[in-house]
Amino acid sequence: MKFPMLKKTLLNMFQSPQTQKYPARPRAVPERFRGMIAYDPEKCIGCGMCVNLCPAQGIVKREEDDKFILEFFQGSCTFCALCADLCPAGAISFQKTFSITGQTKEEMVVSGKARIAYCSECGERILFLPQDMGQQFGLDERLIRLCPRCRRKHTAGRMKEAIEPTES
Ligand code: SF4
Ligand code: SF4
Repeated sequence: MKFPMLKKTLLNMFQSPQTQKYPARPRAVPERFRGMIAYDPEKCIGCGMCVNLCPAQGIVKREEDDKFILEFFQGSCTFCALCADLCPAGAISFQKTFSITGQTKEEMVVSGKARIAYCSECGERILFLPQDMGQQFGLDERLIRLCPRCRRKHTAGRMKEAIEPTES
């Protein structure tokens, strides 16, 4: 045949496309796919470990009134998952979103506000421990809300009470 390309072109006109219809039909991603960061400030205890660990220096912690704000800049994130793997509170995970775009820096930031906690006795700033996390460390509801120094005082007081015989 003199025009092999013409035959191929005509055949292709009646075949379904070989490419995927993205974005009209979003592509499925694997179960453990690491897309855009998801941050849950309700779980965050404000330890700052993720900020120090991030190899891309893409996480910033700042304070505003009685809250602290964590910002994850998706433009520098390498999706290494160090922050999510080592967060003691399980406050960081990944979404399935892989198309992460924005025209401004702000549009590329995932952020959330978490509350700053203070010792219920002396008022010193403490890490906010959720109830279930405190229980893992053997701390009851009262001890969770205390700074380490007041916690030691409180525990020593309890021990003294247990050791000393009560007057009757
Ligand atoms: S997100 Fe996790 S690692 Fe980062 S400050 Fe909060 S508790 Fe700490
Ligand atoms: S996934 Fe890696 S690069 Fe991205 S914010 Fe977390 S630690 Fe940083």
